[in-house]
Formats: sequence, structure tokens, C-alpha cells
Amino acid sequence: MSEELKHRTVEIIRILTEKYPDATVTLDYDNPFQLLISTILAAQSTDVKVNEVTKTLYKKYRTPEDFANANPAELEQDIHATGFYHQKARSIIETSQDIINQFGGRVPGTMEELTNLRGVGRKTANVVLGNAFGIPGVIVDTHMLRVSARLGLVNREDAAKKNAVKVERQLMEIVPHKEWTHFSNLILFLGRDICTARTPRHTECPLLHLCPTGQAAIHTPRK
Ligand code: SF4
Repeated sequence: MSEELKHRTVEIIRILTEKYPDATVTLDYDNPFQLLISTILAAQSTDVKVNEVTKTLYKKYRTPEDFANANPAELEQDIHATGFYHQKARSIIETSQDIINQFGGRVPGTMEELTNLRGVGRKTANVVLGNAFGIPGVIVDTHMLRVSARLGLVNREDAAKKNAVKVERQLMEIVPHKEWTHFSNLILFLGRDICTARTPRHTECPLLHLCPTGQAAIHTPRK
């Protein structure tokens, strides 16, 4: 891995930390279990929508036992607004059952244990580890795939194919370990704010001078 790429990544973190000093997970939660459930609900949805839903959801279902014993059809109704409610309700019930049966009702704190829970993949596990347990993890979601590829930090083909495992590995090579979660949150903020999927605002971006995609865009004459 080139030293230049590592230095550029450190500079990206420095600049984005100035731009987004409060970049942290935007899901509301009171404990690791709620963060886990909210992260499952956030797939293909927005954090704003999930927070709206969980405001009442976590009053009705307070513990892993409450979710594990939930009536599936009723839970589907309760989370309906976040989309993909059938699959999400199933994942939430199964994950809660696993947490009770395998870990006595406590959310485990390692990648291996978390990804052994039904319905939990590496992305969800890294959100929980990084934000609830303080264990750094690179969170590869749709924003990370898009923005890290545009910045030239990862292989574009891997990102285009949504190969999250390869992209995560490449980023782990160039982002300092203690910054993995922080870097993920910064890229998420940039992806929502400026480097959006359809109309990235290159000229307003604080990373323009470091970004091959932005440079190419502003130097290409408009037809
Ligand atoms: S310069 Fe453009 S493509 Fe590059 S990170 Fe900024 S908004 Fe995204």
C-alpha cells in the first residue's frame, strides 16, 4: 500500500474533522442492544425515519426478551415505515433469540460473536463495536462504497460491485486503526451532505484538491 495514499487519507481525516467536528452515529439509542436493532432497521432507510419509529418502538419493546417473543405480524406493523419490514422483523426476532440463548441477554462485544448472530453482518457489527463498545471498525455502507471510490482510496471495480469485504480490507490498510470508526462517520457525513450519489457538489467540497473524481469533473468542459 503506497505511503502517499496513507498520507492522503490522514489529510482527509484532518480536513473532514474540521468540517464535521460532531460526526458520530445519528441513530438514537440508549444501549448496545438498541443500537443493534436500530442499525438493522436502518438498512435501505434513513436514520431520521428509524429514529421516528424507534421513539415509540423502544417504549413497547424494552428488552431482548420482548423482541424475541414478539408477534411477527405485529412487529412488522410497528416497523413498517422503515421498509423491508418482513425481513427486518425476522432478523430482529432471530437476533434477539440468539442474544438470549447464546449470551444471556447481553450483546456480545466481538466481531466474531456479533456476526454469528442471525441477521447481523459485518457492517452492522462494526457500527455496534465502534459506537457502543469503542472498538474501531471500518463501516462499509453505500456511502462508503461511493465516496471512497470517488476519492481513489479503494479499487473502483470492487466498490462498483459492492464488494464490501474487499473495500473494508483496503481501507483498513490505509486508515489508522484508531480512526476506523471516526473515519467511517466522517465519510458518512460527507456522503449525505456534499458527495451525494446523484449530484456531488465538487466545488463546495473541502476535499476537492485531494480528489481525482472532483478534479476530473471540474476540468472537463461541459457539453
Ligand atoms: S470532490 Fe466531488 S467526488 Fe470528490 S469527495 Fe468531494 S464531492 Fe465527492
